[in-house]
Amino acid sequence: MADTSLQRDHVIDIRQVSTRFGKHVVHTDLSLTVDRSEIFALIGGSGSGKSTLLRELVLLQQPDSGSIRVLGEELTTMTDDAAAAWRQRLGVTFQHGGLFDALTVSENVGLPLREHTRLDKQLIDELAMAKLVMTGLSPDVGSQRPSELSGGMMKRVALARALVLDPELLFLDEPTAGLDPASADAIDELVLRMRDLFGITIFIVSHDLDLLWQVADRVAVLADGKVQGVGSMTELSQMAVPSIRQFFDGTRARAAQTQPHSRGAAPKAAMNGSASSKPK
Ligand code: ADP
Ligand code: MG
Repeated sequence: MADTSLQRDHVIDIRQVSTRFGKHVVHTDLSLTVDRSEIFALIGGSGSGKSTLLRELVLLQQPDSGSIRVLGEELTTMTDDAAAAWRQRLGVTFQHGGLFDALTVSENVGLPLREHTRLDKQLIDELAMAKLVMTGLSPDVGSQRPSELSGGMMKRVALARALVLDPELLFLDEPTAGLDPASADAIDELVLRMRDLFGITIFIVSHDLDLLWQVADRVAVLADGKVQGVGSMTELSQMAVPSIRQFFDGTRARAAQTQPHSRGAAPKAAMNGSASSKPK
């Protein structure tokens, strides 16, 4: 299979994508690239088309025109067979978790292994447990039901499930939404650890300015159907474009910027949008 985007080192390459629902235009000639091992974030107002773009990047939806290459595959012309193999190379967490309460936590995490591999049950359980522990959960959580867990624990379980096939690329939709500050800080650390240990490329949709300041290498601002600017948080915070300014001028935005090291819980190593260590 041709894999030119890997040679260019763009794990995601979106070119001139247009999307509309009936007469409602969501994306107009939108272009964007994401590099290997980058933590990339997409921000934008409600209804600006962030989730739609994320859905297009994981083949849950197709744009009306343009090209989307992810992990070297052109998604707009991909065959079903190619898509099945390609899907196993990425992990996705959805904003509302998407865990099945009829299954235990461990069964939820092991689900992609049951669907995509022929490993036996015992090995699947062990691999699921290893991923749970990796996300900072205790092994006893494995026998519980998702509904018995706190919001922060559920986000970790969803992350463990997204990681169980050892993906090259991870998509996270609002990974810290609804979490208390300590749980959100823990997610920040986990995201950085996944990238620093395994070199995973991470694409995040988020409103959480603390998360953006602390983990994102680059951030794209989506408004009026297009990317209005891309850069580190420091670079974006200095841009004069009104649709970008609105993310930096509110009170909450200023608080996130002046306290970039923590949401107020445990202190952590100093890092901001552009300073995290990126493996080459
Ligand atoms: P965001 O995630 O940035 O809040 P979305 O991508 O969910 O925005 O939605 C962008 C716009 O497209 C919104 O106006 C939304 O109502 C519309 N939209 C999203 N999905 C559909 C759909 N399946 N059918 C019709 N309109 C949709
Ligand atoms: Mg959305």
